[in-house]
Amino acid sequence: MKINQNYQNVSESYLFSTIAKKVAAYTQAHPDRKVIKLGIGDVTLPLAPAVIRALHDAVDEMGKKETFRGYGPEQGYAFLKDSLQAYYRTKGVSLDSDEIFVSDGAKSDLGNILDLFSEDNVVLVPDPVYPVYVDTNTMAGRRILFSDATKENCFLPMPDPSVKADIIYLCSPNNPTGAAYSRQQLKAWVDYAREREAVILYDAAYECFVSDSSLAESIFQIDGAKECAIEFCSFSKMAGFTGTRCGYTVVPKALKGGVLNKMWLRRQTTKFNGVPYIVQRGAAAVFTPEGQREIKENLAIYQANAKVIASTMDKLGVWYTGGKHSPYIWFRCPDFDSSWEFFDYLLENANVVGTPGAGFGKNGEGFFRLTAFNTPEATKEACARIEKLFS
Ligand SMILES: *Cc1c(COP(=O)(O)O)cnc(C)c1O
Repeated sequence: MKINQNYQNVSESYLFSTIAKKVAAYTQAHPDRKVIKLGIGDVTLPLAPAVIRALHDAVDEMGKKETFRGYGPEQGYAFLKDSLQAYYRTKGVSLDSDEIFVSDGAKSDLGNILDLFSEDNVVLVPDPVYPVYVDTNTMAGRRILFSDATKENCFLPMPDPSVKADIIYLCSPNNPTGAAYSRQQLKAWVDYAREREAVILYDAAYECFVSDSSLAESIFQIDGAKECAIEFCSFSKMAGFTGTRCGYTVVPKALKGGVLNKMWLRRQTTKFNGVPYIVQRGAAAVFTPEGQREIKENLAIYQANAKVIASTMDKLGVWYTGGKHSPYIWFRCPDFDSSWEFFDYLLENANVVGTPGAGFGKNGEGFFRLTAFNTPEATKEACARIEKLFS
């Protein structure tokens, strides 16, 4: 037996464990201080009541002989795919039902999609970014190039014609930077990818935070994208499904003459047996009128928190991205060049926890991420402390 040696090249991620250790040490030494965590990268509000009702009903169906379900279609039940098709139609995107694949989340699909691509493809990943893209390609032994996201390009790198990449990752609105591409900027990526016959793997996990029509909610709103892109989406951030697990991936048939759509179907029917019926019923309830109203109430709470953090940065004159179309605010550390030193200073002097930008890639050094997933009260309190500390 020979192991996959590429796993030796996957770097240990110490980011969140280091943060947890530092916070634990601090609270142990200062049990009287109230530490506020704005480093949370997970939703905190509960599932919408409409979703809970649908989940309960589906559980009851499973307990009756007449309505019991066994294996479902690997690509998802028609009732959920119909809802997704209608959701895309509201964005002006028309998809065939067999271009939509329901899954247990965007992370799985982002990793699994690499089954379809030869090992000798060159991969282009933005830096800083969600670590999954680098790690999954490292495990497969692919060569990775980075596109630099910096303050100069507002953390939205554009295609460089001298870079020859075959698989291009884009994440917009971005984790960790909160930066979101305009339709015009995405058009440049689509043109570049088509010219090079490359594929764009577009992570739209935060599309529900986009609130400006000059920005894209789906890459398929861009002309020509169906010929070069695969889109990954999730109920996680949209409807609080991080623990419930449901996502969807769109593989257009216009991409490489339908070959990739066929291959993904073959891959999924071979290695995946579908998302639980119960969960798909819960997911479909997100698109009912009550479901939409309720998830938007939750999203509005996160958006208001993001606004509070962003306006604190405005008041302090601190440079930042995100906050408007994203639950993340990514800012230049005031008074510090090291994001870890800034982390310690903020923890000790404001008792506020965030995430050092250096943990997301070399270009993250000197930057810091705060998230909108805490309560409105805690967010306001944390921002008041930050304002006091730096004004
Ligand atoms: C949260 C997140 C996802 C969603 O992953 P799921 O597996 O669907 O929970 C995907 N991409 C990014 C960038 C994320 O931050």
